[in-house]
Amino acid sequence: MTVLIYALIALVGLYIFFLLGILLKTQKKCECMHCRTSMHLERTTRPLYVRRLYDYLPLKYFHCRRCHRTFYLHKDTPDSEPESMKDSTPKPKASYT
Ligand SMILES: [Zn+2]
Repeated sequence: MTVLIYALIALVGLYIFFLLGILLKTQKKCECMHCRTSMHLERTTRPLYVRRLYDYLPLKYFHCRRCHRTFYLHKDTPDSEPESMKDSTPKPKASYT
C-alpha cells in the first residue's frame, strides 16, 4: 500500500515539475526571450505531452526561427500576427487633390 502512495506522490511531483517548466517558458509579450526579436516567430503545435496532460492551460506555443527556441504565450496576449496583418492592409485611398 505504501508503495502505491509513493508512486502517486512521484507522479504528482512529475506533473508539477513539468507544469513549472511550462510556466517558466511562458512569456508576457510576444517576443523571443533569447534573441529579443518579435519578427521571426511562428506559431506551432504544442508538444504531445502538453496537449495530453495540460490541455486546460490557455497557452499558445511559439517557435523562434532565428535561434530555434520555443516559448508559450497566454491566449489573451496579442501576438504580432494581427498587427502585422493590420499594417499590410492597404489604407483607404487618400485624396489626390
Ligand atoms: Zn529567438
